Amino acid sequence: MKSSPKSQRSISSLLCVAFGHDYIITRKVTNHINEYRCSHCGREVAENDTGHLEILTQKLKNTNSALATFFQKKNRKVSA
Ligand SMILES: [Zn+2]
Repeated sequence: MKSSPKSQRSISSLLCVAFGHDYIITRKVTNHINEYRCSHCGREVAENDTGHLEILTQKLKNTNSALATFFQKKNRKVSA
């Protein structure tokens, strides 16, 4: 059995499988949509419009950027 740096990474992935991901918020998109990154394995997810977590793809990042801009504008209008 050889050990490599790769096997260390899979150990933290195993922790995630066993105990769940340790997500930290990386960006607040709207009041109920955030982007998260797992501090163990680096997996990135975001809430979609139904409130479920999905893998944060580049396409979803772009969508969230547009959404965040729209939300900030809308929010500014309401508070003004
Ligand atoms: Zn993880």
